[in-house]
Amino acid sequence: MHARFVVTAVATLIASGFAFPSTAHAQRPFKVHISADMEGIAGVVSPDQLGPTGFEYQRFREFMTAEVLAAIEGAREAGATEILVADSHGNGLNLLIERLPADVRVVRSWPRPLGMMEGIDSSFAAAIFIGYHSGTTNPAGVRAHTLSSANYAGVALNGVQVPEAGLNAAIAGYFGVPVALISGDDVAVGEARRLIGGVEAVAVKRAISFHSASTMTPPAAQALIKERVRAVLARRVDLRPYRITAPVRLDLTFKNYRPAEMLAYLSIVERTDAHSIRYTGRNVVEVSRFLQFVGAYEAGLSP
Ligand SMILES: [Zn+2]
Repeated sequence: MHARFVVTAVATLIASGFAFPSTAHAQRPFKVHISADMEGIAGVVSPDQLGPTGFEYQRFREFMTAEVLAAIEGAREAGATEILVADSHGNGLNLLIERLPADVRVVRSWPRPLGMMEGIDSSFAAAIFIGYHSGTTNPAGVRAHTLSSANYAGVALNGVQVPEAGLNAAIAGYFGVPVALISGDDVAVGEARRLIGGVEAVAVKRAISFHSASTMTPPAAQALIKERVRAVLARRVDLRPYRITAPVRLDLTFKNYRPAEMLAYLSIVERTDAHSIRYTGRNVVEVSRFLQFVGAYEAGLSP
């Protein structure tokens, strides 16, 4: 074999992503994806904290940003080399991005094919959920809802009702990425742990009702998140991706009648009852794209 051919072959291997065992560990980037919501941030209990018209919103953007920053610092201490944050609440424009380290990337606004998990791929080592809340079929939890508090009464994958944490863990799992940690109220993190398994949980408040909680202070929550993120990522070899079987059957129940009626005009959609439709995707990424379409499409869209 000609030496020149060997060099070319090795170069081709490297270009195709092949990593040589002796150097792979030292050189592979340790990438962490952080998906950040707001209902599960310490202190959040009502719409007053959750959107631009709320009188406490500007302060709570700071607290949300600080909890994300705490997760970033914990990940860095565990050796993370690259961080991507998906701003995943409301308008997707909550995080004060100038407060984040210069080498962090931030996904903002909607729509986006992977929703709250946008930016993730198989090169990531772990996913972290900050500020999460319980799902729409849960009778407890601060601001319990799934994807849309106004529109959805149920979101099930393969017959199992899932909160956002379940859908998003399945998207991460599709790419082989495990969820390392979830923070939110006690109901949200308990629900996620029952569904996903060995994920680390940080309960920053105890839910009392839909609009009430007994909460940690922001600095206490931030310190706990930083410490738990560092600890769980230090043992990340023990984490397993949450994988659901394909094809993936989505059962979506609307609070209103007409979305189910209209979507059933599409041959890929089956109407299963007055308020519900079924869509089957080849995998959870197709289901995510379908959900984005259902959530964002309207005939009068402009520009
Ligand atoms: Zn949410």
